[in-house]
Amino acid sequence: MREWEKNIRKVEPYTPGEQPKNKNVVKLNTNENPYSPAPGVKKALENFDVDSLRLYPDPSASALTKTLADYYNLDENQVFVGVGSDDVIAMAFLTFFNSEKPILFPDITYSFYSVWASLFQIPYERPALDENFNLVKEDYYKENGGIIFPNPNAPTSIAVGLDFIEDILIHNQDVVVIVDEAYIDFGGQSARALIDKYENLLVIQTFSKSRSMAGMRIGYAMGNKDLIKALNDVKYSYNSYTMSQLSLALGKEAVLDDEYFKETLQKIITTRENAVKRLEDLGFTCLPSSSNFVFATHKTVPAKKIFNELREAGIFVRYFDAPRIDNYLRITIGTDKQMEVLYQFLEKYRGN
Ligand SMILES: *Cc1c(COP(=O)(O)O)cnc(C)c1O
Repeated sequence: MREWEKNIRKVEPYTPGEQPKNKNVVKLNTNENPYSPAPGVKKALENFDVDSLRLYPDPSASALTKTLADYYNLDENQVFVGVGSDDVIAMAFLTFFNSEKPILFPDITYSFYSVWASLFQIPYERPALDENFNLVKEDYYKENGGIIFPNPNAPTSIAVGLDFIEDILIHNQDVVVIVDEAYIDFGGQSARALIDKYENLLVIQTFSKSRSMAGMRIGYAMGNKDLIKALNDVKYSYNSYTMSQLSLALGKEAVLDDEYFKETLQKIITTRENAVKRLEDLGFTCLPSSSNFVFATHKTVPAKKIFNELREAGIFVRYFDAPRIDNYLRITIGTDKQMEVLYQFLEKYRGN
């Protein structure tokens, strides 16, 4: 080994879902929203003052934090924004998880958590979900250096109630508890309702799924002002200008158009409810979904085989070759038309 290689930080990186070059594929593999961003976003882009790009953006990102704070009835100092929730979560790991004790997250969950923990050299443990893929609250009663889990969980799609989250908070008052609400708008109750009661609770959301803006990279955290200040102190120690002029301008418009937001959410929820019925009719079992995807297993045909054959046919879904979930497919809810292409293809397994 060359001498300088000894000092390289070694990490096993996260593997994002495939972004195919071919635009004709039916893309149901990365939980993007099949509908366009709100019309106001397009208008703001058309009216965007390109000359403003000469200047650095507002480091406090206040146009966007203020809009989010107003929308959720919070103070501006209770909101932190970042470059997608991945950036916000990474920043939160760096800010809050500095104990010698292990942080806790489920064995089956967003696979980026273990990557950040390794990157930042944070010890961690992964309590197992039960046989129905539910979180077991007692597993989070032991001493730890912090807790994070998504609600609804990914890739299982299953949500817990606020009573569950409150129980975890009651048993963990000395560490920061993070709820990753990437999919909360599609079902489930936001833990935002608890941030005034529990000052160690941080709730993280994203524009990537429910607000159709994965390509813009906007995420945010909500919590007690001291948590938000700690996040900002770390941010200003790392990169003061995380949010571009364009993210600030377009993100704001997405939040202001609440009617469009609710309308597209409802369309996705309706398509999801229909998908569960159609897939069950085709021989699948779906876990109870509160998100914009379903986690489905076929009664007889192996998931990996279906995944490969779908891919050949230009229909992309997600498959995780991991213990306990290697016979499941994670299928993003697309438009009714896209879903119809999927159902038609799956007819071929009906006789199996
Ligand atoms: C999609 C996702 C994220 C990251 O989303 P961003 O695009 O970075 O905002 C975070 N957590 C979970 C559970 C997700 O599924």
